[in-house]
Amino acid sequence: MTAKIIDGKKVAKEVREDLQREIQSRTGSEVPGLAVVLVGEDPASQIYVRNKRKMCSEVGIYSEEYRLPQTATEPEIMSLIEDLNQIPKIHGILVQLPLPKGINARRVLDAVSPAKDVDGFHYLNVGKLVANQPGFVSCTPLGIIELLDRSKVQIEGANAVVVGRSDIVGKPAALLLLHRNATVTLCHSRTRDLGAVCREADILIAAIGKPQFITQDMVKPGAVVIDVGINRLPDGKLVGDVDFDGVSEVAGAITPVPGGVGPMTIAMLLSNTVQSLKYNEESI
Ligand code: NDP
Repeated sequence: MTAKIIDGKKVAKEVREDLQREIQSRTGSEVPGLAVVLVGEDPASQIYVRNKRKMCSEVGIYSEEYRLPQTATEPEIMSLIEDLNQIPKIHGILVQLPLPKGINARRVLDAVSPAKDVDGFHYLNVGKLVANQPGFVSCTPLGIIELLDRSKVQIEGANAVVVGRSDIVGKPAALLLLHRNATVTLCHSRTRDLGAVCREADILIAAIGKPQFITQDMVKPGAVVIDVGINRLPDGKLVGDVDFDGVSEVAGAITPVPGGVGPMTIAMLLSNTVQSLKYNEESI
């Protein structure tokens, strides 16, 4: 079997085009607005922020960037966030992670108004996700579900195995799949006989952070494999958590790295920002 490739770049473009159409159709109404807060000079973060703003402008989302120096104190960052919480034209606030050492990221993320928390990291939104109530959900897991849906993968009733239990990917992905009536197993570094558990999966999600960790023998023939991992090999090559060449011989469908889940993450950030504007309008 040769797996069908789930093209995240193409699906993300479709999501952005849908958002662009939706924003354009709102003639005379408010435009969605996103504020991006970048603290320090981390080169990767600067690239992410640039990409996010470029995508915003493409779909018609107004965006602002706030840069604070590496030496910024926690009260300075909190004060900026509190100001942004009050600005009506800003519907989403994104604090680019990682924050410099010495800054308590949890305190900073919880300072973002839950109504503008388009990254879905605020504890209130995490609680809403657990309770299956409307709120903001972390963009990567949301992107995984959107990829599955737009690829017409049946989630209800499927055996879904998520490898990795981080707060931003693994746990929320498992909860979203559960709310869509999949039977979900959440695995981690202490899971016994991981290969046997993975082989039960109709949908296998790898969010581990270890290059090419999921091998062909861990995958059920015909399974849908979603690779969240982004790992740089010593030779500079970018690979996922799944051994793409081996696994694509047995899987029914698979996401590549790059060009799979990654582009979906930004697309869902834009989608959450538009959603935030709509929530805001509903509550007025
Ligand atoms: P974390 O490091 O926070 O979590 C990794 C998880 O993998 C942990 O739960 C850990 O288990 C589990 N794990 C580690 N080793 C094993 C093992 N040998 N067997 C089974 N489970 C194991 O990572 P993230 O969730 O933040 O990220 C995962 C990957 O996804 C990374 O490569 C990251 O770069 C990428 N990523 C990609 C995004 C995108 O947009 N495409 C967005 C976010 C992340 P335990 O809890 O027991 O330690």
